[in-house]
Amino acid sequence: MSDATPMMRQYEELKAQTGDSILFFRLGDFYEMFGEDARLVSRELDIALTTRDRGKAEEERTPMCGVPYHSAESYIARLISRGYKVAICEQAEDPAKAKGLVKREVVRIITPGTVIDAGMLDEGKNNFLCALHWTDAAAGVCFADISTGTLYATELSGDELSQRTLTELGRFVPREAVLSPAAMAHEILPGFLRERLSCLLTAAEEKLFSEENAETRILAQFGARDLASLGLLDKPAAVRALGGLLSYLSDTQRGNLALLHDLNVYEFGKYMELDLTARRNLELCEALRDGGKKGSLLGVLDRTGTPMGGRMLRGFLEKPLCNPAEINRRLSAVDELYANLPLRGDLSAALRGLSDVERLLGRVVYNTAGGRDLRALHTALAALPRIKALLGGCKASLLVELCAGIDLLEELKAELDQGIDPEPPHSVKEGGFIRDGYDPEVDRLRHIMQNARGVVLEMEQEQRAKTGIKSLKIGYNKVFGYYIEVSRSNFALVPEEYIRKQTLAGCERYITEALKEMEGAILTAQERVVALELELFSALRDKIVTKSPLLQRTAACVAYADCLCSLAETAAQNRYVLPVVDYSEGVEIQEGRHPVVEILQDAPFVPNDTELHKAAPVAIITGPNMAGKSTYMRQVALIVLMAQIGSFVPAKSARIGVCDRVFTRIGASDDLAGGRSTFMVEMTEVADILRHATPKSLLILDEIGRGTSTFDGMSVARAVLEYVADPKKLGAKTLFATHYHELTVLEQELPGVKNYNIAVKKRGGEIIFLRKIVPGGADDSYGVDVAALAGLPDRVIRRAREILTALEAGEHAPAAKAARPRAEAADDQVSMLDLKAAAVAERLKALDPNTLTPLEALQAVYELKKGL
Ligand code: ATP
Repeated sequence: MSDATPMMRQYEELKAQTGDSILFFRLGDFYEMFGEDARLVSRELDIALTTRDRGKAEEERTPMCGVPYHSAESYIARLISRGYKVAICEQAEDPAKAKGLVKREVVRIITPGTVIDAGMLDEGKNNFLCALHWTDAAAGVCFADISTGTLYATELSGDELSQRTLTELGRFVPREAVLSPAAMAHEILPGFLRERLSCLLTAAEEKLFSEENAETRILAQFGARDLASLGLLDKPAAVRALGGLLSYLSDTQRGNLALLHDLNVYEFGKYMELDLTARRNLELCEALRDGGKKGSLLGVLDRTGTPMGGRMLRGFLEKPLCNPAEINRRLSAVDELYANLPLRGDLSAALRGLSDVERLLGRVVYNTAGGRDLRALHTALAALPRIKALLGGCKASLLVELCAGIDLLEELKAELDQGIDPEPPHSVKEGGFIRDGYDPEVDRLRHIMQNARGVVLEMEQEQRAKTGIKSLKIGYNKVFGYYIEVSRSNFALVPEEYIRKQTLAGCERYITEALKEMEGAILTAQERVVALELELFSALRDKIVTKSPLLQRTAACVAYADCLCSLAETAAQNRYVLPVVDYSEGVEIQEGRHPVVEILQDAPFVPNDTELHKAAPVAIITGPNMAGKSTYMRQVALIVLMAQIGSFVPAKSARIGVCDRVFTRIGASDDLAGGRSTFMVEMTEVADILRHATPKSLLILDEIGRGTSTFDGMSVARAVLEYVADPKKLGAKTLFATHYHELTVLEQELPGVKNYNIAVKKRGGEIIFLRKIVPGGADDSYGVDVAALAGLPDRVIRRAREILTALEAGEHAPAAKAARPRAEAADDQVSMLDLKAAAVAERLKALDPNTLTPLEALQAVYELKKGL
């Protein structure tokens, strides 16, 4: 090490400070990586690996690779997306003025959870960093999105501590989590974060989460007198998690936490609990098919006009409310906007295209904003008076409150308008972003620069007249600056004060003292104006930073108004109604529809009713495959959820008693990698649901017990039903779809159970799905018919019918006919024809001429003929 060059020594010192991050070391116009970092980056980003002298000895060459400074963002983004951390080291002084080695320092560590650059963020989603502290009695959980300043903290306790913690983690889906040693040692938390949420884990040392540090740090950050005023009294685990979060952020952001001043401490129970399985199954924000927004509930509901509104609406879906008063406040606001079409139209027009003030503010605070960002901020501020005026005419208390929360920030808006050029250049490096007329000195220097051409031409004329050289020219290049060019034929006329600088073929270039003076004035004007513009920019930036709490509050109110307006617009477009939401124990829906299926499918959607109440909380739903059982059950869950975020619902009318949780057990999925079979996964999920559901929960159970033998499966299914229906055991609102028709007898045996089935009609040997839910159990499961519909070969279908008939008659399955020897295969032509004829005969037998219209009869004849 002692033999290392001074620069490499500087590198190694900085590298030692940055832990597990890749160090991007600024060298002129490049960021360079050395040693192991270089190897890794070269491999990950596929860029060339070279070597560099590390010290005096020849063998001391270290691997090196680099990326250009101006395009570093895309390289960093790729590394971050692969879960690496990148420490950015900049030159802390002007290399031209530095004596000896340029001073360098790490200005920021970029990690997946602390990204602020627009290119690395999804504008429709918050990017959360989580801090987690664990004790046996409580868990402290905090989430921060530093790009917007959003900050949540809570403390969880009670019997189901692990489960509750998982629910909160699944709600926020952090990209990165900092864990205290106890949290890191937890049996399931780290694995859940890593595997289910693809979250990067940082194992922190105990001292990052230390108690004393935490309180001091928190009080300083939020300018609070005591923890009670922040809602953190008696929440020691949350305090320690928040302390850990602030320490980690302070480390990575190098102290710049100016955007985090609004702490949202929430109590457990404020939001509906939805575990990750339910979120995914119900396709709240992402469709199961491709993980995209299209096909999800969010995709249908989101008509927001701003990125902030879009993020907030996603937040609504991640955190449905449980308190009817709060829900109804939202609903009244949506109702007012729904009923007042002109207001809604004007408000959405005023909101549309408004820039992302939250993230613009983030860039200003973290000092990565340019002239265009400040201009965009001005444009956003200019839209506020219209939004505020529109909200000013509203009556709903929430809208009145949002109106009051919007600060017009007139002074700042005027200052930005006067200060920033309406069309500023991309980069702030070259100047040109301060508006003319804002600062007299900038104007004066610009005048010199703009007139430079005139001054040069004037001098050129003067020199031509003085020397008599008509072809004399004044030119400029980077090496010599301004020069006078004289062609060979005029050498004799060159005056004495001309100083020769360069000889070219056919001409000579000269300078004079006057020329150099002129050059000095022009060039320093350029340099000075850039420096001055940067100073003015920085002053404007500081003004914005001081106003950041007001700006954040204003942006949040605008985002909220945007969400409510979007919900009202969707309600109007999709014919939703205002639900009644209260503490009643039931769910009553008249003519409910599935909000996503009704939009996505071409066929008309058939509405259905639902009635789950205290005396009869359980509905057993039977019906053939494909009848629409899953759609129906999901639709009920989605309507409940929509009501609890404050949205209108797709129905004719709805009364929703708030649910504390929605559980789903839908579909079969293997977890072979995790060593669990389909049935094991199913049972683990059911166990989880039964352990955690309460009488206020809504359970969606699809085909419990299907993954094992019929008797075992049916026994488990029945026992589960008995448990959920019994108010002494659970008594939770439950929709239970099953193919075990035998279970419908429970309606007679258990008071809380009602049978429903989804009606189908059998006509001409085919089944027609009516999609209508009706009381009573299904008469048949039509499995063979659905298999035929799916295109199973006729031969197989016929055989299946044969077996089914025998089984239904209580007999054994009839033996299969023996396979024919090869020699008989020659008769295949004939026997194929026989088979076809037999199939046609069978279909013909199944036709009931009394129920056919003439047109259907004709159609049947065509089809029968086709069958031959
Ligand atoms: P399986 O038992 O095989 O899982 P299922 O009874 O759960 O079937 P779904 O998957 O819910 O059936 O529905 C099958 C298809 O029927 C859906 O994809 C949808 O297109 C359509 N469908 C369901 N319900 C309705 C409805 N109420 N109105 C119109 N179409 C519907």
